[in-house]
Amino acid sequence: MKKIFLICVICFVSCKKDLPIENCPEHILSLDPAIGNHNVLIVGIDGFRSDALTENTTPFMYGLSSRDDVYFTSFHKTEEDTYSGPNWSSILTGVHYYKHNVVDNSFIGSRFSTYPPFQYYLERAYQQINTSSITNWAPINTFVCQQYLDYTSESTLSDSIVFELARESLINSLSLVPDVLFLQFDELDAAGHSFGFSSEVSEYANTLFKIDIFVEGLFNVIEEKRNNLGENWLFLIVSDHGGDGTGHGDSENPHINQTIFLTQHPYLNFLPNYITNQTDLAPTILDYMGVSSKEIDCKMDGVSIIE
Ligand SMILES: [Zn+2]
Repeated sequence: MKKIFLICVICFVSCKKDLPIENCPEHILSLDPAIGNHNVLIVGIDGFRSDALTENTTPFMYGLSSRDDVYFTSFHKTEEDTYSGPNWSSILTGVHYYKHNVVDNSFIGSRFSTYPPFQYYLERAYQQINTSSITNWAPINTFVCQQYLDYTSESTLSDSIVFELARESLINSLSLVPDVLFLQFDELDAAGHSFGFSSEVSEYANTLFKIDIFVEGLFNVIEEKRNNLGENWLFLIVSDHGGDGTGHGDSENPHINQTIFLTQHPYLNFLPNYITNQTDLAPTILDYMGVSSKEIDCKMDGVSIIE
């Protein structure tokens, strides 16, 4: 009896988690006709421990985080599983790891055909939209983005190359100007694993200082060039996890399971007193881009933080 009971409990738990898939019929996308010239830049910084965002280490992001037109938290919640694979997958899909089923960095068993990245819905909604992803850590593109976006970088890139490619595409010196651009810098995570995840560790702090300069450069292109062309950019900075010592496996540790999240827009209001998690990015971006459907509402776990 005990055994049967246990089997039923296991079945109930797993079936319960699977239910949303069967119950989400494909639903035609609705578009908000008021949305015109909306664009998004998402800057992903791998392994950003929240308390490393300081006036000395990250002067630009530190200043940005206190601006009136910014939502910022240093308590942004990672997935319970604090590997990079599950967290970048949740950021891009808007669903928790037990749905997209990425539980480590192998991406084996992923269910992106059921829970695609948010760019899939944008591509379905707007024929002309240009979605791009430029990442240092190649698996994000290989496993998550490649089949859904217009442009994905293919091999491992240095953070400097990620920055240069992004900047050039935004200042219009490449053939493809992205409407929605996702970036990922990975060298902070590498410095953390080699030397320690702490602003007290010079290798980690110096790497973050360099990334801060990249972020400033990209933000200035958006603010001074793209928005002056009449475009309307939403700017986001997110990380997949923090770190402690030279690792980020302990999911109970707040230096690991909390990280930073920032979003900026000149005149939007964001939810006050709300603490974000990885699944909130995708619904926020789709909301900003005026794309909604019952399918999206049904599948996604996060909420839009736009008021
Ligand atoms: Zn990572």
